[in-house]
Amino acid sequence: MNSTDTRTALVTGGSRGIGAATALRLAQDGADVALTYVQDEDGAREIVQKIEAYGRRALALRADSADPEAVPAAVHEAANTFGRLDILVNNAGIGVLGPIGSLTPADVDRVLAVNVRAVFLACRAAATRMERGGRIISVGTALSRRAGGPGGTLYAMSKSALAGLTKPLAHELGPRSITVNLVQPGPIDTDLNPADGPYAAGQRAGTALDRFGTTAEVASLISYLAGDEAAYITGTEVVVDGGHAA
Ligand code: NDP
Repeated sequence: MNSTDTRTALVTGGSRGIGAATALRLAQDGADVALTYVQDEDGAREIVQKIEAYGRRALALRADSADPEAVPAAVHEAANTFGRLDILVNNAGIGVLGPIGSLTPADVDRVLAVNVRAVFLACRAAATRMERGGRIISVGTALSRRAGGPGGTLYAMSKSALAGLTKPLAHELGPRSITVNLVQPGPIDTDLNPADGPYAAGQRAGTALDRFGTTAEVASLISYLAGDEAAYITGTEVVVDGGHAA
């Protein structure tokens, strides 16, 4: 994002991990930033304090993406509080992994609610609030491009839906100069997927760079896509996976 911009952003799932790094990066870039969270109120408060320390306005909203009312409400609250909404980052996501026989209908409902329905509803709300130059960026996964192994059926299925959303929405919002893109991270060291976790070695070996990525490396890509220089990039997937798909 350009440092001269005074834009506003909403990052879902911004209390920890990739979302927290993205919220901080957008604030460093000059944006006022709202973030959602569910449980980690202390984490959300800490990110808010850091954003304010950059001299930007910040807002933490408890909004469970599984609740179809909560995320659109957060979009509107962010836009109302800041007076506009320029950037939406659909980051909140959950992974329920395991053999297909172990995954229940309740697992399917919850994963689709958080990883798919909430993204759709956030985009739907944001489309009514964004002006020319708006940016919608969703966070998918490299596992929807290349399966690292078994166990990812439900997670990869849910994240694959984001490509289906991104492309037609880019066409729909393109005439308003709003871009819509999908960031596809490989293994990134977070609470969700720790670099010292039980499944880490196989993931690391699956990358060309033989390492996990950092949250800052994903945030910098999102920052670029959110900026003026990325105005001609839309309707596409951008991979930050250390060569996982290579
Ligand atoms: P973390 O588990 O580290 O952080 C998740 C964040 O999302 C937290 O801020 C959490 O808030 C929030 N969150 C979780 N559930 C909900 C919900 N139902 N509604 C709103 N917010 C929620 O995850 P990561 O940072 O690792 O992942 C972020 C995104 O990146 C996800 O979409 C994930 O699928 C994707 N991704 C991650 C990869 C990785 O290797 N880490 C690789 C590829 C994609 P709180 O703590 O308050 O509950």
